[in-house]
This record gives sequence, structure tokens and C-alpha cells, in this order.
Amino acid sequence: MTSFTCAMTGKNKIGIIVDEDFATKNVPPYPYPTFLSYETPLRIKSILSYLEKNEIFKNERIVKLKPSTVEEDIIHLAHTKYHINSIKALSSRGNGLLGEEVYVTEDTFELAKKAIGGAINAITSVINHEVNQSIALIRPPGHHALRETASGLCIFNNIANSIIFLREKLQYTKRIAIIDIDAHFGDGLVQYFYDDPSVLYFSIHEYDFVEGEIGFIDELGTGEGLGKSINFPIPLNSNDNDFLESLELLELILTEYKPDLILIAAGFDMYFADPIGNCLLTTISYYKFTEKLLKIAEDICEGKLAFILEGGYSLIGLPVCVHSVIKALLKEKYEPPPFEYLDFSSNSKKSEISKIKSSLKKLLATYWSSIV
Ligand SMILES: [Zn+2]
Repeated sequence: MTSFTCAMTGKNKIGIIVDEDFATKNVPPYPYPTFLSYETPLRIKSILSYLEKNEIFKNERIVKLKPSTVEEDIIHLAHTKYHINSIKALSSRGNGLLGEEVYVTEDTFELAKKAIGGAINAITSVINHEVNQSIALIRPPGHHALRETASGLCIFNNIANSIIFLREKLQYTKRIAIIDIDAHFGDGLVQYFYDDPSVLYFSIHEYDFVEGEIGFIDELGTGEGLGKSINFPIPLNSNDNDFLESLELLELILTEYKPDLILIAAGFDMYFADPIGNCLLTTISYYKFTEKLLKIAEDICEGKLAFILEGGYSLIGLPVCVHSVIKALLKEKYEPPPFEYLDFSSNSKKSEISKIKSSLKKLLATYWSSIV
């Protein structure tokens, strides 16, 4: 294992991107409950309150980092002028809806610019060894946003925009892996790099095996990117053990791919109490996932991990999930909160997961020598 310490301080540091605006601005339209209303500043407020209460910011290894706001030319790297101007125009008018799943307020344009800046700061602080790992507590989320339009509560694609920024403005050409653990398939994010072998996309998401949808195992990328887009769909009502079944495959892929940087599209809407997601995870999943990923990252890329917040809408669940990730990064023991007394072990989807895993392995064996 490579033990790598922060160049500036000589200690392992974890950067957390924090800004009060994410906890106060861009209030969704009322009345509750509507789908739109779940993407609220209270999400960040509840996380920050919980982290304060647990004295996370007093830990000497935790560094608070401020996000910068990007200018329009940076957004234009990943989005069309028409899309940027549409959001700007709706924001300047004070409000508006884009389809059924995106709202715009007077704050949206500025906050969405700051969200991209926060993601970029989280990533560059890791690449530059200012911190060892980072977490960007930003909103609106990004992984559904497309080049030409907002989608599914997402305005701009924070992760895609950051990667293109690294490529075009910082001449950072090394391999990058994105691990997307949001409950929903990152249909926007995957499109940016579908033919790009220098960006690996590995998504674990809930999947409707009855009706069918995109994000299935046979969507493997195209052209030179074939085999670099990997979907591990899991059934609705999957529990901790079901989710953690994906880690063996993830480890094989990452170890063979050897990225220089691992980004996590960190959605927490597979949490059992989430009002939008349909799975039954507890914080144990997020703690173990992070623990495992950190170990892999330390072995292959000096521990360079950056978590970029995506979904997660339970104001009770989201803070404890983020806390569990931080505890794993700190390599500290973790005790789940007392309200996680529910036992979902009887809900296991083990046999379905095994079938999916072996079918996926068969498909991937063509492209990955470590998978047989
Ligand atoms: Zn989601």
C-alpha cells in the first residue's frame, strides 16, 4: 500500500467544500410534497449541522475549502450556449420550470455556477496534493444534466464539466474513473465519455427489471470507449449486502484500469429512508464502500478520491450517510445511528444480484483480462 501524505502539511488531510449559499439559496417551489421540492437547501443545512454536532470540523485532518464560482466560458466547455442562456434568462426573471423535473429560481444560475466551481476545487485540491481526499457538499446536483439541457433536478453537469476543465484548461490527460452510486443511472454523465477510453464510468444504480430502462449491463460504451462504461444495476429494495456485492467487480476493474484519480458521483438516495430512491441501504453500505474504495485508491493512485454530492433527499438520512463516508476516510470506527435499528436482511435480492453479476462478467471478459 502506498502511504501518501499531503505535500503542504505532511499529514493526511480531507478537504470538505463548504459554502453557506448551498445551505440557504435556491429554495424549491411549494407546496410540499412534490418531486421538485426535495432538492432543497435544507439538504446541505442538515449535513452541516450534523457534522458540526459530531465535531467533524474540529478534527485536525479536516480542512474546509471554499468553492470558487466559474464564468460562463467554463460552463460552455460542457454545455451549449442555448442551455446556459436559458438558465440565465429564467433566473433573471425570478423563476421557471423546465419540464416536470427541473425548477429555476432567481438563485439558480449563480448557485449552479458555484456548484461547478466547488466540484473543480474538490478535484484540483486532490490532484495538487493540497489534500488527500475531498468531498464537495454542493447543489444543485449534476449527473442527469445533458450538454444541451437540464434534467432530473440537475442544471449543469458538475462532474463532466470538471473533467473537461481538467483536460482543456489544465492539460491533465491521465486516466480518470467515475464511480456513480446515486440511486439513479447517470444518464447525462455517461454520455460525455461514452467513446472516451480515458474516462471509466462504473455505475451502481437501482433498476426496474420489469419495465426496463436505460442503464442496463449491455450498454458498454462505443468506439474506443467500448468496455469502459459499466453498469451494475440492482433490483428495487436491495439491501446492504446486495449493494456490497458489486465491490468485488469494482476492485477488479479499478485495479486493472489503474486510474490516476477516482471521482465518486456521491448520491445517497439508495438510503432506506429516502423519499425518492427505492432501495434499503443503511450507512453501513456507504461506510464499507468508502473504506474499500480508499484502500483500492491507496494501492493504485496515492489515495486520490474526490466525492461530489449528487442526490440524497432524506434530511435525516443524508447527513448520516455523509458522516459515515467521512468516518471511513478518517479511518475511524463507525457506529450507525440508533434509528437504523431496522433489519432488512430478509429483503435480500441475492439470487438476482448473482445472476446480474455473472452476466455482466461474461460481457466484460472481452475487454478486461482480470475478469474471467
Ligand atoms: Zn438520484
